[in-house]
Amino acid sequence: MDKSYDFDLFVIGAGSGGVRAARVAAALGARVAVSEMDRLGGTCVNVGCIPKKLLVYASEFSREVRDAVGFGWSAGLPSHSWQRLIANKDKEITRLNQLYGNLLETAGVTLLLGRAHLTDAHTICVGEQSYTAKNILLCPGGWPFVPIFPGSELAITSNEAFVLPELPKRVIIVGGGYIAVEFAGIFHGLGSQVTLLHRGDKLLRGFDEDLRDHLTIAMREDGIEVQFESEILQLERTPHGLIAQLNDGSTREVDQVMLATGRRPRSENLGLEALGIMLKPGGAVAVDAHSRTSVPHIFAVGDVTDRLNLTPVALAEGTAVAQTLFGKGPVEPDHACVPTAVFSQPNLGTVGVTEEQARAIYPEVDVYRSTFRPLKHTMSGRNERSLMKLIVDRQTDRVVGLHMLGDHAGEIVQGFAVAIKMGATKAQFDATVGIHPTAAEEFVTMRVKSQ
Ligand code: FAD
Ligand code: NDP
Repeated sequence: MDKSYDFDLFVIGAGSGGVRAARVAAALGARVAVSEMDRLGGTCVNVGCIPKKLLVYASEFSREVRDAVGFGWSAGLPSHSWQRLIANKDKEITRLNQLYGNLLETAGVTLLLGRAHLTDAHTICVGEQSYTAKNILLCPGGWPFVPIFPGSELAITSNEAFVLPELPKRVIIVGGGYIAVEFAGIFHGLGSQVTLLHRGDKLLRGFDEDLRDHLTIAMREDGIEVQFESEILQLERTPHGLIAQLNDGSTREVDQVMLATGRRPRSENLGLEALGIMLKPGGAVAVDAHSRTSVPHIFAVGDVTDRLNLTPVALAEGTAVAQTLFGKGPVEPDHACVPTAVFSQPNLGTVGVTEEQARAIYPEVDVYRSTFRPLKHTMSGRNERSLMKLIVDRQTDRVVGLHMLGDHAGEIVQGFAVAIKMGATKAQFDATVGIHPTAAEEFVTMRVKSQ
């Protein structure tokens, strides 16, 4: 280790990627500092995955109560306290913030609270203090993107949605991506009247077309209003709420408008331009396969690089940088076959390529597809169908894509992702005995190719 610097590694941002990289580097013997200007744990812990999933759980109880009637239960929908939900969620997040602090301390990482920026290629300024480091890792994450239109400042983003003083009775959500779809389910389940407005003609660009169509059907069936090719032109506050003027000439009065229109890398004000660190259009830090920027001892991982903006990916990238610098040799994070789930209601889970992508890549593709009413809903009366799909490269018999819309799809697809990553063939899926009665068994019992 080079004692002419204060630290072997200086990490900017104590979120998913930063904390993981700092801990792994320290465990490998490096002298590590991490700076954080907000709460420990970053987006995922404070305004992302964790509080989002807690709110999803909260909202799902109302589905369960409605579904219970067909099973003999009779009770009206119990009342719900948004304030209690948010207070309990905040308590859990504070516990996690402390846990992250303890993890860093136990690992021997120096935590520096404050906004960091680079003043030269080896010097980092945090507040009034300057520190030198042999290597630097940028993991400042991303931030919600807010399109500008008259009154757009009256809208909230996911950041504010987690701390609203009360549940909006009527809410418009703008966007058709992960956050829009997940929050539509959250607010709807908790009792809000939800309208989702999306500029495109389908939700969730990039996902398998079948899943996109079926999710829209399921959301509408459940009572969420989904409008395509729809935009807000103007937003105004009135004594009764917000009036949104839409591009079809209609107006809507609601209590909140939430913009879920994507996120942008937080690469500004870090001093990157002065050092000649290359940015991609849109502001993401450009990196090579080892997450190295155009300045060789400065690395970047996570959302600021805008590769796959998911927590487990930021963790893998951060681990790989620490191992590359202080381990046995260069390690590349593997971005192939990353499974992902959208915590919509029902869930959507996916790993590998979509049918459309497969048809562009492989000369011959077989598709196995099943839609069915889950056993539970034969008695709940819910008119919701699950969709499962396998995409097979006919030449190798490998299952190259696996997709599901249905309850617990996130949990189910995580397990199957191991098989897909290992290159499992359709014959091996067929040779696997199912667990009966489950929805997941469908993945090993599909025998008929869809036309
Ligand atoms: P972050 O976790 O955002 O951490 C960056 C940290 O850097 C922050 O704490 C920030 O305060 C700090 N920082 C920034 N600039 C500076 C500076 N100059 N000095 C000091 N500190 C600085 N992913 C999933 O895999 N599953 C999910 O279910 C999921 N749900 C999500 C739900 C929502 C609503 C959102 C917004 C995101 C969700 N994500 C989810 C995405 C996931 O949260 C991100 O991909 C992940 O947090 C990225 O980690 P990161 O390390 O790049 O950045
Ligand atoms: P996404 O990129 O998923 O979706 C953004 C949506 O906003 C798209 O539908 C896009 O439309 C639309 N949009 C973009 N710009 C405008 C505009 N100017 N006006 C109107 N609509 C616009 O971003 P999210 O904000 O939903 O989430 C950010 C990222 O965080 C996700 O991509 C994902 O990586 C991560 N995340 C992961 C989750 C999970 O793992 N479960 C949950 C939540 C977030 P179009 O398709 O036409 O471009």
